[in-house]
Amino acid sequence: MHKAALPQQKSRIVRYSKRFRVKPGHKVKLADIDPDFHSTHEDEAAAKGEIVTNQEKLRALQYRMYAENKRSLLVCLQAMDAGGKDGTVQHVMAGMNPQGCRVQAFKTPSAEEAAHDFLWRVHKAVGPKGTVTVFNRSHYEDVLVVRVHKLVPKKVWSRRYDYINDFEKELTDSGTHILKFFLHISKEEQLIRFKERLNDPTKQWKISESDYLDREFWDDYMKAYEDALRECSTDAAPWFIIPSNHKWFRNLAVSQILVEHLEALKMEFPKPTVDLKRIRRKYHRAEKEEHKRR
Ligand code: AMP
Ligand code: MG
Repeated sequence: MHKAALPQQKSRIVRYSKRFRVKPGHKVKLADIDPDFHSTHEDEAAAKGEIVTNQEKLRALQYRMYAENKRSLLVCLQAMDAGGKDGTVQHVMAGMNPQGCRVQAFKTPSAEEAAHDFLWRVHKAVGPKGTVTVFNRSHYEDVLVVRVHKLVPKKVWSRRYDYINDFEKELTDSGTHILKFFLHISKEEQLIRFKERLNDPTKQWKISESDYLDREFWDDYMKAYEDALRECSTDAAPWFIIPSNHKWFRNLAVSQILVEHLEALKMEFPKPTVDLKRIRRKYHRAEKEEHKRR
């Protein structure tokens, strides 16, 4: 397939961007959202075709964004531990041109980071025009883990929703498209995944005590997520709640929302900066003559 050609949509597709989007200001009740949901797809095999098509489309769309060099995409991923952030990063980036994308993970702030305002490290990590950036955790940790573990007083974290909205508004006004995904798993599913990690020598390195400690605070986290999703889902930078107990469905939904959004941008390849006719005449005729002479 030529890179410029976008794969055609074959079947009618459920619009997940509408279905999973948090309407600005709407109250979110996570307990009412089924993390097992997998729409009309029976299983991974039934969804495979759509997932692959989305990945091909994403690849072509990212190529356009890079060529166009006019705007950027910022994808924020948030989830409880073992919620599937790493897997989603891998899936979303698969096939993208590494020259035009990057992943930024946010850990416990370093001493230098902690000595600044909470958005300092975040703003620096937003990619320039033409690029896709994926945040594995994000500035939302500053109203999630920070709130749950009382790392700053309520007076401080409660103001941050407004700061975040202003920050994101400034980014979107400057050509950064922001899409935020909360990967919603159940507490039971988390334990299943922790056990898998424990039994898989290739995944044991991911285990940390804090995962188990955070699990004890599950309800507090859900409350903190509900507030963040309600306060900070805006038209310009929406939040999506993705049912994520099924990894394949999560990949399907996230990739489809990204495709929907990027297709709507109607990105164009820039016009060539040279006169192609002249270039053809000048160099390609010369090449022919060179051939004749040999
Ligand atoms: P992981 O993503 O599993 O490698 O873990 C990163 C850890 O960093 C998690 O426990 C997060 O809660 C923590 N973290 C990320 N951002 C912040 C922050 N702003 N303040 C405190 N802890 C954070
Ligand atoms: Mg962890």
